Amino acid sequence: MPPLAVLDAPANDACACDRPTSAKLSIDAALARAAAWASPVTDVDFLPLGAAAGRFLAHSVRARLSSPAFDRSAVDGYAVRAGAGLEAGERLPVIGRIAAGARGTRLREGEVARIFTGAPIPPGADAVVMQEDVRQDGNAIVLARPVHAGAHIRPAGEDVALGDRLAEGGARVDARLIALLAAQGIAMVATRRRPRVAVLSTGDEVAEPGAPLGPAAIYDANRPMLLALLEVSGCETVDAGIVRDDPREQAQRLSMLAERCDLIVTSGGASVGEEDYAARAAHLAGGDAEPLAMALKPGKPALVGRIGAAAFLGLPGNPVSALVVFSLLGRAMLARLAGSTPSPPQGLPVPLAEPLSRKPGRTEFVPARLLRENGMVRLALLSSNSARLQPLVDADGFAEIPADVAHAAPGTPAAFHAFAGLLG
Ligand code: AMP
Ligand code: MG
Repeated sequence: MPPLAVLDAPANDACACDRPTSAKLSIDAALARAAAWASPVTDVDFLPLGAAAGRFLAHSVRARLSSPAFDRSAVDGYAVRAGAGLEAGERLPVIGRIAAGARGTRLREGEVARIFTGAPIPPGADAVVMQEDVRQDGNAIVLARPVHAGAHIRPAGEDVALGDRLAEGGARVDARLIALLAAQGIAMVATRRRPRVAVLSTGDEVAEPGAPLGPAAIYDANRPMLLALLEVSGCETVDAGIVRDDPREQAQRLSMLAERCDLIVTSGGASVGEEDYAARAAHLAGGDAEPLAMALKPGKPALVGRIGAAAFLGLPGNPVSALVVFSLLGRAMLARLAGSTPSPPQGLPVPLAEPLSRKPGRTEFVPARLLRENGMVRLALLSSNSARLQPLVDADGFAEIPADVAHAAPGTPAAFHAFAGLLG
């Protein structure tokens, strides 16, 4: 029997929000609340396709061509007129040769033309015979098997038809979409300006990596993590540094940032304790900040709101909490800035490698590793301590454990969120 995975609950994860879940928001409801504070970026950058990777489409795009534009051969072989069908053993003269990019002349009944992959089907032909399915006989071929009309032809419009919707406004431009648009002959694309997102760390104990470390200090892990995450998510980032646990200083910094950013993300001090200043600072800066308590672990309450024209997200200080809450609420806000509809991240079911036992009540995101054994994939849960970064680096993604689950046998599927998808 494998050891029992007992998910640990570090002392500093316990807080007032550990109490009953009924007053807490569902993750879906929290996503919607968070997104509602952000407004789509309206400025449009008209960019060459090659420079648009990582941007978001300003509008939906429709096909301006049928693609491919003509019937073409899917293989190297012979274009034939199959009509009602040709029998094996038929001998057919080769009257021409059509390479990709060339155009053939009309075939008459009984004639064939040598043809290559991607070349247009000549008029009069209605099928292609693979070269492996013929025998050469002088200037003719002999069919090794019967041929039916339509064989090995890629018909015009098989990929997309004129007027088809290729992508919605708000879609992320990635290598696949670039290929689809390029295949349409599209050289320039309308994208939204990259959202400008500031990242600010708060806390008297938080020190800049590279600076000397005081006796009760920790290095800032959240800001570099969030800046990296935002960069790969297609944002323009503003490194807003570290600010002390002082509501006035924080408010001043927030006001400055609000003037030039679409979103401000802070970490630390987002809860409702005596030493938590982010909400007060947001109010002092003339903004709104509402605490969202979700039935989520890790994740103390987060703050969502608005300061001036900028949306505001206040994340918990523990790095894993900050990452999980950002992956949910931050992603929802970014989706709205990009003009698309936020949706919760979708995990893929993967069977647990070990039995699970834990306190139910909150949906839990646990760093997890994919184990591949005998062609099977299983999910091993790592430490759920939200202050620990090493398990994140050792993991392949998060396992999502539903709120009501207290025990699960090995083999029970859990939703797995690969970092590759979740973190951009
Ligand atoms: P807080 O949310 O301010 O109560 O902080 C929770 C925990 O996260 C505390 O142990 C903080 O020291 C830690 N913490 C806060 N900010 C950061 C940061 N930028 N990087 C790493 N740890 C942090
Ligand atoms: Mg703090």
